[in-house]
This record gives sequence, structure tokens and C-alpha cells, in this order.
Amino acid sequence: MLIVDAHEDLAWNILTFDRDYTLAAVETRQREQGTSAPAHNGDTLLGYPDYLRGEVAVVFSTLFASPARRQQGNFDTQVYTTTEQANKIYRDQLDAYFRLTDDSPDKFRLILEHADLEDVLSHWQKPDVDEHPIGLVILMENAEGVRSPSELEEWFKLGVRIIGPAWAGTRFCGGTHEPGPLTSDGYALLDGMADLGFVLDISHMDEQAALQALEYFPGAIIASHANAKSLLKDTDSNRFLSDDVIHALIERNGIIGIVPYNSFLDPSWRPSDGRESVTLDHVVSHIDHVCQLASSAQHVALGSDFDGGFGWQSVPAEIDSVADLQKLIPLLAEKGYTNNPISAIMGENWLSLLRRTLPEEE
Ligand SMILES: [Zn+2]
Repeated sequence: MLIVDAHEDLAWNILTFDRDYTLAAVETRQREQGTSAPAHNGDTLLGYPDYLRGEVAVVFSTLFASPARRQQGNFDTQVYTTTEQANKIYRDQLDAYFRLTDDSPDKFRLILEHADLEDVLSHWQKPDVDEHPIGLVILMENAEGVRSPSELEEWFKLGVRIIGPAWAGTRFCGGTHEPGPLTSDGYALLDGMADLGFVLDISHMDEQAALQALEYFPGAIIASHANAKSLLKDTDSNRFLSDDVIHALIERNGIIGIVPYNSFLDPSWRPSDGRESVTLDHVVSHIDHVCQLASSAQHVALGSDFDGGFGWQSVPAEIDSVADLQKLIPLLAEKGYTNNPISAIMGENWLSLLRRTLPEEE
């Protein structure tokens, strides 16, 4: 059963730690022994052979930089103080995706339009072939690198298909730990995105801004990587989605990618608790919660955020690499889900979003 993962910060890792995602996760872990990468970002969960084994056919791969006020240390090179610098980082990250897909087209391919998606998917249907390309859909997380909405057309031409206005607060809206509404710059960004057909990602937007955007933005809306706040005890973090936001997303035919990150499944979890205290059952609970609110399985999927500031040390016990997302299938079946809803959750929901939103041709 094919999996689509709606959030991975591949370019950030390539430029920060020189990670080579054509290698297996286990090989990258060996190469990084004695380096500082695992201490900063955990042991990698990603690599081409792991995608292949896990049938992860499509990944929404991000452009991501953080404001200097949130810099994690000297190793953290993808930081900016000006929009000019953010813009430069995103161009460099885009180049990293161009290099990856140019150098290893049999392993990674960009998905820019309908035909690209269908090419990748039809390759995965070939019965006698055991190596398939992973399709990458480019998602800009934190829109601070867009210097003005007039630049959006260029970003679309370059391949960006999804934009999340926030990470921390931005000039567009309130974000994680930095509450606030949509600003006039934020509304202008949404206008430009709607005109060109970008998908809006409300992950990291403060609740107030998210609800305004859900009301205002006419195009397709997702939360590529976010969990349900009502299942999480002892947190009032605005990083999680309230049931109000989930309801509004469902009403707008949106999709939420659930994150298998221990701190997002149990906010009281600490690395010293060990991996064993959080399991894939926690992930199933978040998936099921959205299905219950929607009375259908059409609005929830996966957005792992693997390697996005955490690694092997901080994911549920059953997960050694991205390939183990497949282990959700029997757990969903145990919970009473039948084959169609399970394949919707594992990948089909994201595929139908892409079919609705990718351009016919460039
Ligand atoms: Zn994020």
C-alpha cells in the first residue's frame, strides 16, 4: 500500500548536515558516528532504500529556514535576519532539490504537474521492477523568503506548490509560540497564492490566523504536519490544532497530516523517558480523532516531519525508519478500519489533493 508523507525537511538536512538521502538511514547513521549531527537532530529516519521498503512514493519536501532569534546553535546555518537572506536560503535549498533529482533521477523526481505525479505512480505499479522513484512536491514552510507577493509567480515557476505562511510568527501572521492574527501582508500573500493556485498549509499558524485564513482563502487548504490538541494533556501550545480548527478544515475539505513525534503525541515526554513510552497507538488515536470529527477518513493522513529537528531517538517505539510507517496499517485494521479508508489515510487523501491542485501542465 503506497504511502504519501506530507512533511520532510530534506533540503534543510542536506545543507545543514550534508545528508545524502540516496543512502539507507542505517548507512547515514554509521557515517555520522562521531559527528555532531545526531546530537543536534537525532539519528536519521530517512533514506532511499527505506522509502522503497516502506512504499513511500511521494514526499512533500520543504524549503525551511528559521529566524535568527530561534537559531539553535552554530551548526544551524539555515537562519536569517532579513527577508533577503531568507530568500537566498530558499533558493539554495531549491537548488539542493534540483541537484538531488538531476543526479539521481531514478531515485528522486520533482512533481511539478499532473503528468509528473502519474509518471511516478505508474512506475510504482510496474510488477517486475523493484526500484521506483520517490516524487517530491515542494512545500515552502515559513513564507518569510517571499519578498513580495509579486514574486509568487516566480516561486510557482520554480516548482513550489504549497506554502505555509508561518513557523514562528512572520510578517504575515502569528505562528508557533508567537500568537497573532493575519496581517495585511498576510492577506496579500493569500490573495497572490489563490491567484496562482498554491495550496495553503496552516501548520504553525496561530489559531486566530488559521481561522481567518480558513474563512478567507478560496483555494485548497491543508495542515501538512499537526496533531489534535484535544488529545494532548498538559499543553496549551498553539502548535497543535484545536477541534475548532479541525472542524473548519474539514468543512473546507482540508487534510491534516499526523506527526509521529513523541513530543507531539505526549507533550510531557522527554528523551530520558526512552522511546518505549510512546507507541504507534498514540498515532492511531490522532488519526481516529480526526475521522470521528469528520465522520469519514477523507481528512486525515500522514505528515511525519521526520528529521525535522528530531530523529530515531524521539519517535514511537515501533519506528526504526520511515519504512515502519507501514506498521500503522494493521493497527488501523485492528481499530476497525477497512482497506479503503486505510489506503486513504496512508496516501490516497494526499494523492487526491495533488490531483485537484497540481497544474495540468506548466
Ligand atoms: Zn514544521
